[in-house]
Amino acid sequence: MSEQTTTPAGVDESAASSTPMVLAEHVSKSFGSNEVLKDISLEVRRGEVLCLVGPSGSGKSTFLRCINHLEQVSSGRLSVDGTPVGYREVGDKLYEMHPKDAAKQRRDIGMVFQRFNLFPHMTALENVMEAPTQVKRVSKAKAKARALELLARVGLAERADYYPAHLSGGQQQRVAIARALAMDPKLMLFDEPTSALDPELVGEVLDVMKELAKTGMTMIVVTHEMGFAREVADTLVFMDGGVVVETGDPREVLANPQHARTQAFLSKVL
Ligand code: ADP
Ligand code: MG
Repeated sequence: MSEQTTTPAGVDESAASSTPMVLAEHVSKSFGSNEVLKDISLEVRRGEVLCLVGPSGSGKSTFLRCINHLEQVSSGRLSVDGTPVGYREVGDKLYEMHPKDAAKQRRDIGMVFQRFNLFPHMTALENVMEAPTQVKRVSKAKAKARALELLARVGLAERADYYPAHLSGGQQQRVAIARALAMDPKLMLFDEPTSALDPELVGEVLDVMKELAKTGMTMIVVTHEMGFAREVADTLVFMDGGVVVETGDPREVLANPQHARTQAFLSKVL
């Protein structure tokens, strides 16, 4: 641990920066009698890229959805940036957040899905401008300038005025990433962002994600792209049947998986 520094105002900034961006402590989630997340404990530090891998049905999407308020955990504790998801903490008690505060907490989290879900009646530019203007009440001029900057960043400056139907899957997914970034999230969640793409379009999306990682964005990426995990992730988490089976440096886990279930999974995807 580095020595703690204190600002002149006496505010301890190092404490804030050492708060994990995501902290799951004994998180469980059931749908009826089906327990799909079982005692999940993991941590995502600021600026870290965590790749979450595992067979279909292991609970990866559910875990992301709990972080993003789309599902509620059944037990345990899940925090983003030090605040319990959907709850406010008073002393040692948790109270449900006011919907406004929950919406605010959620706005700080960008999510990119397997299906790009762009608004079909809006151009790429309008898609990226939509949330900042409608939700954050940013002026149109400002939102447009920022959207154009983000589209350039994902390599689509020339496609700003195209409608989704006239863009390839890879281009649509890059617009979806720009759209999420337009809200200035502190955390980005990717749920199999390249699984619906033709193989030749996967690389361009992964490249954009790789660049994003280089900027220091905190990211949780559910993916079967082990090359990406090896190259970009700081941590690889292997989940199976709702439990974290194995966690570690991706290069080590991929080269030398410790558990039979990890070995079996990797032998199928590698
Ligand atoms: P993964 O993303 O790893 O494929 P999911 O998180 O989508 O896994 O699903 C884990 C399990 O939870 C599956 O058995 C799935 O059927 C179940 N599940 C997910 N969402 C719901 C839901 N809304 N209602 C009931 N069961 C669900
Ligand atoms: Mg899934």
